[in-house]
Amino acid sequence: MAERRAARGGVRPPLTLDTEITYLKGAGPAVAQRLRALDLRVARDLLFHLPQRYEDRRAHVPLARLRPDQDALVRGRIAAADVRFGGRRTLRVVIDDGTGGLLLRFFHFNEAQKQGLAVGRWVQAYGTVRAGTAGPEMVHPQYRVADAAEDLQPDAHLAPVYPLTAGITQQRLRGLIDQVLQIAASDAELHTGLPGLAAPDTLAALHLIHHPRTDADAAALLEHRHGAQQRLIREELLAHQLGMRILRGRLKSKPAAALPGAAQAMDELIEALPFAPTGAQRRVLAEVARDLAGARPMLRLVQGDVGSGKTVIAAAALLAAYRAGHQAAMVAPTELLAEQHFRTITAWCAPLDITPLFLANRVKKAERERVLAALAAPQPAIAIGTHALLQDPVVYARLALAVVDEQHRFGVQQRLALRDKAGRLAPHQLIMSATPIPRTLAQTLYADLDVSVIDELPPGRTPVVTVALSNARRDEVLARIKAACGGGRQVYWVCTLIEESEELDAEAAEATAARLRAELPELRIGLVHGRLKADEKDAQMRAFKDGLTQVLVATTVIEVGVDVPNASIMIIENAERLGLSQLHQLRGRVGRGSRESQCVLLYQPPLGDLARARLETLRSTTDGFAIAQRDLELRGPGELLGRRQTGDIGMKLADPVRDAALIPGLQKLADDWLAREPALAQLLIRRWVGDPERYAQV
Ligand code: ADP
Ligand code: MG
Repeated sequence: MAERRAARGGVRPPLTLDTEITYLKGAGPAVAQRLRALDLRVARDLLFHLPQRYEDRRAHVPLARLRPDQDALVRGRIAAADVRFGGRRTLRVVIDDGTGGLLLRFFHFNEAQKQGLAVGRWVQAYGTVRAGTAGPEMVHPQYRVADAAEDLQPDAHLAPVYPLTAGITQQRLRGLIDQVLQIAASDAELHTGLPGLAAPDTLAALHLIHHPRTDADAAALLEHRHGAQQRLIREELLAHQLGMRILRGRLKSKPAAALPGAAQAMDELIEALPFAPTGAQRRVLAEVARDLAGARPMLRLVQGDVGSGKTVIAAAALLAAYRAGHQAAMVAPTELLAEQHFRTITAWCAPLDITPLFLANRVKKAERERVLAALAAPQPAIAIGTHALLQDPVVYARLALAVVDEQHRFGVQQRLALRDKAGRLAPHQLIMSATPIPRTLAQTLYADLDVSVIDELPPGRTPVVTVALSNARRDEVLARIKAACGGGRQVYWVCTLIEESEELDAEAAEATAARLRAELPELRIGLVHGRLKADEKDAQMRAFKDGLTQVLVATTVIEVGVDVPNASIMIIENAERLGLSQLHQLRGRVGRGSRESQCVLLYQPPLGDLARARLETLRSTTDGFAIAQRDLELRGPGELLGRRQTGDIGMKLADPVRDAALIPGLQKLADDWLAREPALAQLLIRRWVGDPERYAQV
């Protein structure tokens, strides 16, 4: 009532953190709608929409002092500007500040931009320095132009950089967040003390992070070491630990189908295999069998380097469920991968007189209906496929086990989708991860899972020989490809990101394919990138797998799991731009056959120290866990390489790699809170994870 009266009188009700964003100044329905894409609905959401990083534009860096990979604010006079047409249309602008020069390159530009960047004018630019062929350069920097140097001044403060969405600028977000900071001052919840977490309190920390003062320790902020950041990082990691523990607790409290004969069923599969399992495979099989024999659902992650033989573990678990009279499903992230598993496991099961079922979008109506009917009937079955196995029309009469391959493409949501599929009993869950990760990191990302590790490769592999070559030796690489393809081998040519844009990435891959087709006209060259439709992608991969193409030009989309044993050479362009673990995953695509395989890391000199260390690590070892550990050591605190993992788990400020050292302490704190402070646990989950149901309602 009071609210309605106030509204009639033209007075708005007082704003709180639960007020919808539309009621803030400068945010109409259109802005509010756009912000939904970032999951921002009410004022509180904006408060916890935190800068991922800061840009330091407090001083101009002299051009002579620029280093590759550095983010820098620079200022200089335009000494030359032209448009080049060779290859891609490029606007090239050379600036000079008296100490040295810098090339600015633009692939997308309009006439006005071209006119503005005229010789003699001054430019202030902010961007990442790259080592170009003719010296340092920036590709698509942010920039301003003026007629005099004095009109281009640096900022007084560090500039927070927020995650954005289309149509929303940094300035717009800042304006909204500033309003919410004022509202927050009178919010009781933000003043609630949180035992075990060090000062400053939440509100003080939020103020500093959104609005670094001139006297704030800038170096610490840039490296995420500032006390205010540390406070919120701890809160966020604790919230995730709490959420995942609650999830695990609820899952573990459900009854599951006990499969006491699992170990025997696994022995039966081992007998049927064309090879003997490694010691590590046997150990992990025993761990899985023990879980399956229990009447609580298994929640187990199997980690193993690429090629360590995780499929055997999956197949054994599927068979164990089948032999006990239950149903088991194995889900892979792509059709191609699902098909590959289906073929492998069908072959292994043939001597046992078991025929697995296959389901993916591509499966035709009649066959699909047969599969659905089989799964709906109370009879044992092994089903292998894509997400289609988790979707609505599929009903399982007695699903006892779900195997999920290549976990990092599967979110918590998909795992939760399983709960609806199982009826009264919760299914056992076996999750296979191809990304070997150090223990502390696994404890952050998979706090709800038990972890098994396959730390041994099957015998008889010839390790991949890795070399790092400068782009100047590209001709030698082409000659090598020609010879290898002449001898019946196949080659991956991987193009890496120019920027974080799938579009430019795809363009670069297209350009590379065109160039290689011209340089190697006698070879059949395929192309696969992220902008192709799923079926086009699969068609390209299949053509390569079937030997119809000899060279496959690809972006990093090929990273995940496909087996083409005949492909024994991989060229990775601009290898200096990729992280270690990603390079290792890519390299895992070769070295699968009996022939000696090679991986060529092409790089653009000069190399930065970090890039040099990465390439050196790859040349010296092929052990995925050693590489992951080294990766962790090499990431300077300011680096954001963990973004992919962070993105998966939806963290705002914490980085499970960078902040790994905090985890053991927070695990202990999470136990304390669950025992003594259940209400605070809920509060913190709501604050950081959003809807507590996401974890709790299982
Ligand atoms: P990943 O762990 O990368 O999923 P896969 O399960 O695809 O590895 O196994 C890689 C290859 O090694 C497959 O061809 C598989 O048949 C083979 N393999 C698995 N285990 C063994 C073993 N113990 N001895 C010999 N070959 C094996
Ligand atoms: Mg695999």
